[in-house]
Amino acid sequence: MRATHSNAITSARGSAVRTLGRRLVHPFLLLAAVVFVSAPAAAQETSQRSGVEFKQVAPDLYFLFEFTSSNSVVLVTGDGVLVIDTRQHPRDGQDLIDRIRKVTDKPIKWVINSHFHGDHHFGNPPFKAAGATIVAQKDTARLMEKVQPKEIARRGNFFKSRGFDPNEVKLVLPDVTFDSEMTIHLGGREVRLAYLGPGQQAGDTFVFFPHARMVFTTGMFGPRSMPNMAFTPSVETWLKLLDQLAAMDVDKILPAHGDVSTGKDVKELAAMLADEYATVKDAIAKGMSLDDALKTLKFPQYKDWRNYGRLEGEIKALYELIQTGKRGYLD
Ligand SMILES: [Zn+2]
Repeated sequence: MRATHSNAITSARGSAVRTLGRRLVHPFLLLAAVVFVSAPAAAQETSQRSGVEFKQVAPDLYFLFEFTSSNSVVLVTGDGVLVIDTRQHPRDGQDLIDRIRKVTDKPIKWVINSHFHGDHHFGNPPFKAAGATIVAQKDTARLMEKVQPKEIARRGNFFKSRGFDPNEVKLVLPDVTFDSEMTIHLGGREVRLAYLGPGQQAGDTFVFFPHARMVFTTGMFGPRSMPNMAFTPSVETWLKLLDQLAAMDVDKILPAHGDVSTGKDVKELAAMLADEYATVKDAIAKGMSLDDALKTLKFPQYKDWRNYGRLEGEIKALYELIQTGKRGYLD
């Protein structure tokens, strides 16, 4: 295996994305798409544990979809395995390794942590023990370390609901970090990591699988799901990133939360985020107090979305951002 790093300056990011776009239209990819369409449904495995699916989304790519927690992606090659995100507890991480072992006995060489939230890296310990090299964008690594106690504390209810012991969670930091781009070559496949600026938070990492015409996205996008807004330094930047994602030349989006998606789902989320942000901004401009905003801004049009129950927290987070520019959670 080999990896190349690039510390492209901000102005080079656009051309890096265009390069990715060009590489994504190789005629071979069409063949790969045909193979995927004809893959037998039996290749998909649904867990006995409710709500967890481990499904094959390309001949060599698996998507672990857990609606009530977080997702992972697994690339299986003849030279080894690459994993994106290790789930919310070491026991869930071990569960993912067990599932991988049902489809390949190749070593797990690489783990990517897509962003700092604990539901994407608390499963790191068993992967580290299995010998994987863990990679993350440098801000992700910094924030993982900085807010670890808060990340454990805010997942107390989840641990309780699963019977998981919070004391088993141990911080395992990345072995390798990158600034804006990194390419991993494994078993004849190319995996491209790109940091295009903060969306939901600093460190949000896109992972491209050019051969499958797919991209993995962080918490900045989830289909019909209201995202936590306590970490973003700028909703405007986040919206620009969503526009960029919607315009990417890929067939499928593999989100960190929610099922396999397309650009249409991204546009829907972007419209919701823009609507909520503009409404709160307008309320503040008119002098509405936070208490009154919490009482009157209900956004009933999104009541069927995942995490609608977060609405009050979101309004508080947007008030904090718009009025102070601060992100208290990250202090
Ligand atoms: Zn998450």
